[in-house]
Amino acid sequence: MAYQRAYFPVKTISLSQGYGSGSSTHKLSYAIDLAGIQNVYAPFDCKVTKLYQPIDTKNHANTVWLTSTKKVLSPNGYYGYLTISITHPSEISKMRIGTIYKQGEKICTTSKMTGNATGNHVHIEVAKGKDSGWVKKTNGKYSEYVILNKVKAEDYLFVDEDSTIKKKAYKNKNYNFIKESDITYVVKNVPSEPLNVRSTTSLNNTKNIIGGLTNGEEVIKFYDKGNMSYIYHYEMMGYVANRYLIKKV
Ligand SMILES: [Zn+2]
Repeated sequence: MAYQRAYFPVKTISLSQGYGSGSSTHKLSYAIDLAGIQNVYAPFDCKVTKLYQPIDTKNHANTVWLTSTKKVLSPNGYYGYLTISITHPSEISKMRIGTIYKQGEKICTTSKMTGNATGNHVHIEVAKGKDSGWVKKTNGKYSEYVILNKVKAEDYLFVDEDSTIKKKAYKNKNYNFIKESDITYVVKNVPSEPLNVRSTTSLNNTKNIIGGLTNGEEVIKFYDKGNMSYIYHYEMMGYVANRYLIKKV
């Protein structure tokens, strides 16, 4: 079985707010807002692990936390559990702790806003691991609630291949939204197959060899480390010499 990829929960990526600046709840978090009226889908096989349903929905926003029920693969090479919080689901009253969703299953829509939002959008935050909840962060007089173990959504979620990236910049900063096809490479010109896949970057021993690749096989390339690339191929993750990887076109 291939490892399940973690995906953004919407099919149109139109960044209406990034993090590090802007309005409250985006200053100290890695929250991003994705604009538009659209369906929200389960980003991975997951279960509802926390619900926040304020009485005052004029000023506070419905939020659901979904935790992956197995390890999932991210575009930065992480393979582990993830939790996502999705703010503004209008259908929150139907949600229950423990409800299971299969990846791709529709969870809610972004058509009815709660909280003091100015336009239709979904507000998402991503965390490493299974812990769901908030932690209060403070900077001087300012404070906001931020998802526990926060990480950047664009580092941990793939954009689905049939999704559209409409707007990826916020305040002149481009956010690096990645589709799997953007980082798919083909093994080429290996003189004596197989191309060794190693658990470390060292080429000086055979103990770190965990598998092999042949010409024409495809890999996801996460990053380079010297002359080696950290890659994924089916259930294998490790390092290969990067001179044998050609970007798939
Ligand atoms: Zn937001």
